[in-house]
Amino acid sequence: MLAAVGAVPRHLFFEPAFEAHAYQDKAFPIGEGQTISQPSMVALQTELLGVQPGHRLLEIGTGSGYQFAVLCQLADNVQSIEFNAVLFERGRQRLAALGLPTAGLHRGDGSLGLPGLAPFDGILVTAGAPALPPALLRQLRIGGRLVVPVGTQDPGQQLLLRITREGPESFLREEFGDCRFVPLRGAAGWQ
Ligand code: SAH
Repeated sequence: MLAAVGAVPRHLFFEPAFEAHAYQDKAFPIGEGQTISQPSMVALQTELLGVQPGHRLLEIGTGSGYQFAVLCQLADNVQSIEFNAVLFERGRQRLAALGLPTAGLHRGDGSLGLPGLAPFDGILVTAGAPALPPALLRQLRIGGRLVVPVGTQDPGQQLLLRITREGPESFLREEFGDCRFVPLRGAAGWQ
């Protein structure tokens, strides 16, 4: 998993003004008021998903495309949704230039998931939700995992959760400490 993080040159996902900071363990602005997560958080969220090569994955919040590129090192079927049109287009062009499979990129409200492509073995949310988004729980395969920060919007303070779908109506909830993400927007996000 750490090899996957190491395989993706993070500076290519930065705005030119911040490129020199790309190898610090910090979050940085990517435009439109959004941020690229710090590498240790990308590594932790990826680790918690427990990805295997045959898995079908969904990321909510494509942003710069960095986390998507890391997931593409680990699995063949990776989908990602971005709400913001400017970031969607910028991310798509950047990932295409790097030779990554952009067919998995979608523009829309990821708080509703991608029902047409469900079920997923892993769903990774890279924005802070007010509560567990019900659509994402429904789109997990049995044994599938949802990794999501849940908490307050202002100040952005969340608890990193992993939800494992153990049966059709049974979910295991585990906590992995405090974190800070930009707010999740959309139907199951902050308005
Ligand atoms: N994974 C990104 C981190 C981006 S920050 C990276 O590696 O760079 C979180 C992103 O979530 C922002 O780009 C924001 O626009 C997006 N976002 C917020 N709410 C969303 C929603 N409901 N659906 C899809 N994307 C959303």
